[in-house]
Amino acid sequence: MSAPSTLPELARAAGARRRLALSYELFPARSEASFDRLRETVAQLEATRPDYVSVTSRTGQENLSRVLELTEHVLRETSLRPLVHLTCTGSSRTQLELVIDALLDLGVRGILALRGDVTDAHRADEDEVPFARYLVELVREIERRRTAMLAGGRVSIGVAAYPRRHPESPTRRHDLEVLVSKERSGADFAITQVFFDPADYVDLVDRARDVGVRMPIVPGFVPATDPRRLHRLAELSGVHAPPELLHALESARDEAERRRIGVRWSVDLIRQVLDEGASGLHLYTFNRHEVALDVLEQIDLSRA
Ligand code: FAD
Repeated sequence: MSAPSTLPELARAAGARRRLALSYELFPARSEASFDRLRETVAQLEATRPDYVSVTSRTGQENLSRVLELTEHVLRETSLRPLVHLTCTGSSRTQLELVIDALLDLGVRGILALRGDVTDAHRADEDEVPFARYLVELVREIERRRTAMLAGGRVSIGVAAYPRRHPESPTRRHDLEVLVSKERSGADFAITQVFFDPADYVDLVDRARDVGVRMPIVPGFVPATDPRRLHRLAELSGVHAPPELLHALESARDEAERRRIGVRWSVDLIRQVLDEGASGLHLYTFNRHEVALDVLEQIDLSRA
């Protein structure tokens, strides 16, 4: 089929493209064998034409070479755009500058600026970049320095947002103040932490708009099919899956039934959030395309 070249054809094509934003989160491979499987997952997800795929990273650039490997694969071997997660905790400004420069040199134009998780024992070094907000500022600073190289273009910067209170925050109000400050520092959009109640997302967006946040807040969803993963997620993020969902998954007869229950539950949640006006969805895939595709099959992305 030839590309649209007349105004009516362009209008028809634009109509067809007017749809919800779609993105997937992937984590870098840990071995050659898992990188082979990951390539297949990327190819399967590419077929659904997402707007970007995000590439997670660990704190302190522990797995930097694996992050770069996956990012390069996405850039060179697929038609996808990567959004690379970058965490600042445990890293100095100079180290982060090196990584940001390397990412921009590769052709990356999207960065999710994060602090990363810290343990209670963590003691920040004097030159550590302590919060995501300062990382956003650093990316913007480097972008300004490289304007000519970026052909005057911009780097798209995302940040994290929390429908439930961040475990270290004293109040949800404090979370909102942090979100406002990340937008003022130059963030373009936010992706949310997982949540299981649509009201939590709606409430976050309402309260964020009230305090002046204007950027899109994209809901992040975990396909809720694996109870062990949901328990682990609760440990890491403090966000607990509903007991009735956990019970249904844990008492399922087999893997196939667990998958049916989890997919149905996730589709229901996503539909409710989209009905509330969210501009798109971000799927935490845990590198499993099968479940992500099951979920996606039942979501109508064409409504605007
Ligand atoms: P910040 O926005 O810096 O906030 C961190 C904490 O400090 C909050 O409690 C905040 O209220 C508080 N705070 C912020 N600024 C100030 C200030 N000026 N004064 C006092 N307190 C302040 N982690 C990874 O390690 N790798 C990943 O790839 C990764 N990807 C993620 C993707 C998404 C979409 C999300 C939502 C989270 C992700 N995380 C990842 C987890 C994230 O790193 C943690 O939630 C982390 O604890 C906080 O990161 P942040 O960017 O929100 O930090």
